[in-house]
Amino acid sequence: MELSVTEHIERSEKTLFSFELLPPLKGHDFESTREAIDALIEFDPSFVNITYHQQEVVYDHMPNGYHKKRTVRKRPGTVGIAAAIKYRYNLVVVPHIICGGFTKEDTENALIDLQFLGIKNVLLLRGDPLPNAKVFIPEPEGNTYALDLVNQVMDLNKGIYLEKDLENTRSMDFCIGVGGYPEKHAESPNMDSDLFFLKKKIEAGASYIVTQMFFDNKKYFDFVKRCRQKGITVPIIPGLKPVSIANHLTSIPKTFNVDMPVELVKEIIKCKDNKQVRELGVEWAINQSKELIAAGVPVLHLYTMGKTDNIQKIAKAVF
Ligand code: FAD
Repeated sequence: MELSVTEHIERSEKTLFSFELLPPLKGHDFESTREAIDALIEFDPSFVNITYHQQEVVYDHMPNGYHKKRTVRKRPGTVGIAAAIKYRYNLVVVPHIICGGFTKEDTENALIDLQFLGIKNVLLLRGDPLPNAKVFIPEPEGNTYALDLVNQVMDLNKGIYLEKDLENTRSMDFCIGVGGYPEKHAESPNMDSDLFFLKKKIEAGASYIVTQMFFDNKKYFDFVKRCRQKGITVPIIPGLKPVSIANHLTSIPKTFNVDMPVELVKEIIKCKDNKQVRELGVEWAINQSKELIAAGVPVLHLYTMGKTDNIQKIAKAVF
């Protein structure tokens, strides 16, 4: 029987290791995922997260000079990848479920598939606004906030399906994680408001939090302190991403609403090429990881973004 993320944490006295994978692009097979896992399996990951990606808008050029707009999901397959990893590697998997692009029925059907597959952990997220959209637009009949998703999954955990008159339904047993933002979610007017809604997700039934990436551990420690002051008592798992290209200097703060410490910025600027930036990113993340582990964090969660050579070096240095 697969353990839940929180059972893993409760049973361990040391900091656990986990990482996040992206499903391959459409048309690619399991090979890149296999390579990524093979590179990290020796560090005994307690669980592996698999992201979910909503549709993107693409414009096709037409012979008449016009453009035709259509939406496409470039990285489908989260449920299938999660099952393949679980059964090929006997690993605990945590597929992400998002609001964006899903009706409540789509969500219920994905959860039914996961239950059939014996997967009992999910990370529930809203999803970002589509590129070029100013605000997040839910599907008609979809969930608007991650909180709504938590409520839907908790209903299923109680055997309450969307069709209320179903007979002999089985209740599900998902362990729910949610996202948290040490530097505040980009759309929140202030930290207190963000923590207010984070607490609502926990009160609704989420059992742990995984943080957005951060490059200054003080941001994480302050966040945990503020969560505890607000009465959020669940495990808060720090998520780390090593910088790997010079362009991250501008793309990461913009995309993820996080600050980069002055010292890190200075060192990136000094790098002659992206190879040096990648090495610097590994070194910075190793230092962050050592301090977090010394502080007794429950899990060290590493974002791979599809590449694992740098994650492997970090894991080797700290586990
Ligand atoms: P929510 O918790 O819904 O919050 C969104 C915003 O609305 C916040 O500002 C919050 O304060 C506010 N808010 C919340 N509830 C309410 C309410 N009831 N009324 C008014 N305001 C409210 N994205 C993907 O597309 N796929 C992924 O696989 C993915 N994985 C991620 C993993 C982690 C660990 C993290 C931290 C993020 C991930 N994301 C992913 C990105 C995430 O989808 C975005 O950050 C998104 O913008 C917010 O998601 P959320 O679940 O935190 O949203």
